[in-house]
Parts: sequence; C-alpha cells; structure tokens
Amino acid sequence: DTFAGLDLLRAAEALPDDERTRLTELHHLLQSAVRRQSIDCWNREEFAGDLVAVLAEAGLGALQLEPTSALFRGLVHAEVARADLSLSTVVGVHNELVVGLIDALGSPEQRRELLPGLATMRTIGAFALTEPDHGSDVAGGLATTARLDGDEWVIDGAKRWIGLATVADFAVVWARDVTDATVKAFVIETDRPGFRAVPIRNKIGLRIMQNADVTLDDVRVPVTSLVPGAVGFDSVNTVLRHSRAWVGWQAVGLQLAALDVARAYAARREQFGRPLASFQLVQLTLARMAGNTASSLALMMQVARLQDAGILEMAHSAMVKATCTTQARESVSLGRNLLGGNGMTTDGEMAKLFGDAEAMHTYEGTYEINQLIVGRALTGVSAFVG
Ligand code: FAD
Repeated sequence: DTFAGLDLLRAAEALPDDERTRLTELHHLLQSAVRRQSIDCWNREEFAGDLVAVLAEAGLGALQLEPTSALFRGLVHAEVARADLSLSTVVGVHNELVVGLIDALGSPEQRRELLPGLATMRTIGAFALTEPDHGSDVAGGLATTARLDGDEWVIDGAKRWIGLATVADFAVVWARDVTDATVKAFVIETDRPGFRAVPIRNKIGLRIMQNADVTLDDVRVPVTSLVPGAVGFDSVNTVLRHSRAWVGWQAVGLQLAALDVARAYAARREQFGRPLASFQLVQLTLARMAGNTASSLALMMQVARLQDAGILEMAHSAMVKATCTTQARESVSLGRNLLGGNGMTTDGEMAKLFGDAEAMHTYEGTYEINQLIVGRALTGVSAFVG
C-alpha cells in the first residue's frame, strides 16, 4: 500500500531511527487517546485539560528546547493536528510563540524562571498581539500602551482572540512605549490586578482552544517583566517567521486527518450496491485530496531544510502558510462532500475538520496578508496600504 496513510510521500524516512520510532509511537498515542475523545469537547466548546495532559506527558511541551531537526518537529506538529487542530494549536502556541520567544529573546532570569515549567507544560503561556481594532494592521496600529512609572511598567489596552488566555499562567503582551512609540513585549501574570480574560463563544472552528478578549486596565508589572530581546516590530517577525511555518504543518496534519476519514468512509459506505470507493468520481476526489496533502507536505519538507540551514525568510513562511491552508480548505471541503449528509455532523468527524480549516485560514495572518508579503517580495512594492 503506497499510501498506507501513516506517512504520505515517505517523509519520515529522512529521520534518524529514534525520531521515526518516537513519531510512530506518538501517532498511535494521539489516534487512540486524543482523536475520538476530542470530538465531545469540540461539540461542547470545552477546553480539554485532560487531553492537554496527555500531550504534556508525551513531552510535547519541550519540543522547541530539544536539539531535534525541523522536519521532526514539523511532523510532530502534523501528527497532533491530525488528531485535533485545537490541541495542535495549544502545542504550537506553546512551543513556537511562547517557549520560542522566551528562549530566544527573554532575559537570563526569565529563561531560568519560566522554561522549566513550560517544558513540562505545568506552566502555560499565551501570546497577546492582536487587538479589537488592529488585526492585519497590528504592526502600525498597536494601541496597547506601556508607561514606565518608577520601577514598574503600567500596561493599558485590550487584546482579542488570545488563545489560552483564560487558562494561562502568564501572557506575553505586546504594547507600545508611550515615551518613544517602540513596540515592546512583557511577561504579564494573568492573576495581576487589572488583567481580565473573557472567552469568545460560538466559534465555528477550533472550539477546544479557548480564545479570549483580554483587557489590561492599569496592570502594573516590575521592570524585570520586559522581554529584553523583544523590542521593535522586527522582533515580532522573528517569532512569526517560524510560527507561520508551523501552521503549514498544521495544514498537512488536517489534510491527513481528512484523508483518513474519507478513505475509511468510502470503503464502508455502499450505494448502488457497491462501496463508494469503487466509483471513479469518488476515487478522483480521494486522489485530489491526496495530491493536495502531498503538495503541502513537500513544501513543508523544504521549509524544514531552510529552517535547519537558518535561511528561512518571512516570504517563505508567508507563502507556505497561505498555500497550505488553501489546499487544506479545498481538501476538507472535498472530504465533507464525500461523506454526503454524514459530512454535516461532527459525529462523522469531517465537519469538525471543515470548521477548523476556516480558523487556520485566518490566524497567524490572513490569506490576503500572507500573500501580500509574498507579493512584496516578488515585486519590491508594498501593497498593504494606500
Ligand atoms: P482584519 O484585519 O479586520 O481583516 C478582515 C479582512 O480584511 C481579512 O480578510 C483580511 O485579509 C482583509 N484585509 C485586511 N487588510 C487588508 C489589505 N491591506 N489588503 C487586502 N485585504 C485586507 N492573535 C493573537 O495575538 N494571539 C492568538 O493567540 C490568536 N489566536 C487566534 C485564533 C483564532 C481562531 C483566530 C480566528 C484568530 C487568532 N488571532 C490571534 C488573531 C488573528 O491573527 C487575526 O484574526 C488576524 O490577524 C486577522 O485580523 P482581524 O481578525 O482583525 O481581521
């Protein structure tokens, strides 16, 4: 079976034996202990603390701190997304945005105090950049303020869509210094007076991941809360360059999940006295889904090489984020159609993937914004404004 399903394009064969074994074990764990169990939480829009504990137990909190290849980390992200996209977002925000930022840009004290707890996921962080009035234009528009008052910073403003903010121990909050207008990041504990996070309800996707509206009302933090390396918007881009590539891996995982569900359904469902799998048009649908998935995977395998060589640029990661999530959107749409009426309920799993693909298309920069980054690299002209 060329497409045994476990490893389309035999990507994992490039990994050393021990990493390949870890990946296979992780696949089986996620498929047995997370995938089906996540459906109920998704339906009830409930944060799945017990499923996050399974991920923590599997060592997924320390992915960013281990000396592994980008291909291994990427395939791990794809396997988590194949089981559930919300939980993959928990692992991704945790590693790519929070741990990655503290490790690369934090002070020695922040690294010493925060990294051990983050590595085991006993400590959870959130990444708070987007605001109610500034999403795509957050670089220029960031309105949350930071004011130095003696030996404390005072933070005021509002954030929107912040994943994990309701359960996190701290949030990395981006704010603009009132004295010189530079963008800075602060580690703010969520139990500080004036910090409030309210979950956003009724999302059509990513329903296990709690995203929140956050308000910061005269929140006071010591000067040591400033993340010293996170100054200026370029430092945001240092982080986003890698986290956008992570979303490409999520798109691979989501499509693998869609293919798993569609293949199984086509094999067992009969119409006109024959399994759906025996009809040419159904095979065309499956082949198109597999081609999309493999195409996303091939892009991401090359991105992993660029990451390991230290030459990944923002235009690369913007391109794969936009392209892979678009392919995923088509794949889950084809899959939903293949399940007929059963594609309409989350019991059949495909509808959950369908909703989750929509969220993925928007977070980490919308399709349009990422394509504008590619367009700017291609033409030398920025088309964002004016
Ligand atoms: P807008 O910026 O208002 O955009 C609306 C539409 O206009 C989009 O289609 C956009 O592409 C288009 N548009 C805007 N400007 C242009 C232009 N110049 N040219 C062409 N089209 C344009 N943020 C965080 O900080 N932390 C998180 O943890 C986080 N998690 C998220 C989770 C989910 C499920 C979602 C949906 C979002 C999350 N976000 C998070 C926020 C996310 O990054 C923003 O939603 C995204 O950047 C878009 O901003 P917006 O929603 O304000 O849309």
